[in-house]
Amino acid sequence: MARSGVVIDRDYLKHDPGPFHPERPERLKILLDLADELDQREFELLPPRPASRQEVGACHSADYLELLQATSEVNRYALDGDTVTCRDSFGVGLLAAGGFLNLLDGMASGELKNGFALVRPPGHHALKDRGMGFCLFNTVAIGAHHLKRRYGAKRILVMDWDVHHGNGTQEAFDRDASVLYVSTHQYPFYPGTGAAEEVGAQEGEGFTVNVPLPAGCGDAEYARVFNRIVIPIGSRFAPDWILVSAGFDPHRDDPLGGMDLTESGFAAMAFALLDLAARHAGGRIAFLLEGGYDLAALKRSVAGVLAQMRDPEKAEPPSSRGGEAIEPLVRKVLRIQEPYWSG
Ligand SMILES: [Zn+2]
Repeated sequence: MARSGVVIDRDYLKHDPGPFHPERPERLKILLDLADELDQREFELLPPRPASRQEVGACHSADYLELLQATSEVNRYALDGDTVTCRDSFGVGLLAAGGFLNLLDGMASGELKNGFALVRPPGHHALKDRGMGFCLFNTVAIGAHHLKRRYGAKRILVMDWDVHHGNGTQEAFDRDASVLYVSTHQYPFYPGTGAAEEVGAQEGEGFTVNVPLPAGCGDAEYARVFNRIVIPIGSRFAPDWILVSAGFDPHRDDPLGGMDLTESGFAAMAFALLDLAARHAGGRIAFLLEGGYDLAALKRSVAGVLAQMRDPEKAEPPSSRGGEAIEPLVRKVLRIQEPYWSG
């Protein structure tokens, strides 16, 4: 029986954005400890490889790649106020993207049943010609392009549950009907995009679903959004692949986000997406680490998702108390999406 794939490597510790930065190497260090404890009968640990210039070039301009490569000549370079590189960052960014591609290749061949790329730096804010928000390369977008080009994927669902809106991913597939981008995020919040009215453009109109949540949402509110929006629209789309921008910064202990999710809430979302993948995508679902800045909460939450990947088990349904408060928002999003997903 195929195992779950996990990409992780000590080289991911080498990207160092400087002292006191929340996106610090320790995030990966505690996940390396977690990986050490995994049962190798259930999980296969995959080494990364650097993504090629052509692979990252599917999502980024030549000028931007040149700029990023040049950052490896200097000790520190600030792409913006939050996004700082060291000499190793360019190489580590290529390893993050290539690690994710390795995982997707293992799943495409049927050798792996599903997977989780535990890599850094994160990627979903990275734009075609600009790094921002701790992100250098848009790893999930590079992965989706890879699936389209190499395996002829026709319908890729990218679910982004990071507390921040994945502006880079949305922009990459704004006009592309083969990639459905669905994001739950705190709003208004960094980076400012992700209003419910942003639904994609041209051929991609209707293939962007934004659920801009008020601060304070917890397991019950996220469960409501999944039950009423994410899973119904995802089922109608009938993806042949699911990629998850799994940020753990909506956790209640996270120092950056203002949400109230617990590790049970993440496990419930993972269960729902694993189930969707089983029904439509031959089980092909790959999780990719984005944010998540409280070390203990990150470790527990990732462990919960890995447990679901090994053996999907319906988590205890969260108390519905409080979930009703976001019903007006749920209805608003459904009304905006109705022209594309009803009937
Ligand atoms: Zn985030």
